[in-house]
Amino acid sequence: MSDLATPSSQFERQARWREKNPLKRWAHIATASALRRGLIERGPCEVCGADNTDAHHDDYARPMAVRWLCRAHHKAEHARLKCEQNGGEQ
Ligand SMILES: [Zn+2]
Ligand SMILES: [Zn+2]
Repeated sequence: MSDLATPSSQFERQARWREKNPLKRWAHIATASALRRGLIERGPCEVCGADNTDAHHDDYARPMAVRWLCRAHHKAEHARLKCEQNGGEQ
């Protein structure tokens, strides 16, 4: 293994994701900031009620309009959206 060829490092993938998704990135930052300030509250997964949830945005232009989904149901929701939109997500 040569250390010249590490194109898919976590860092690079994140940097590329940020370049391609400025609106999503902004929504994530706005959501984290709103959570810290107590403007929105983390809730349980709306599907199974699990406590360990991620914020999901139906519309990234409205970062305060979040739905709370556990890792598994968040993934499932994105898979569903991906099918509906025929790609584009992540
Ligand atoms: Zn769940
Ligand atoms: Zn999501």
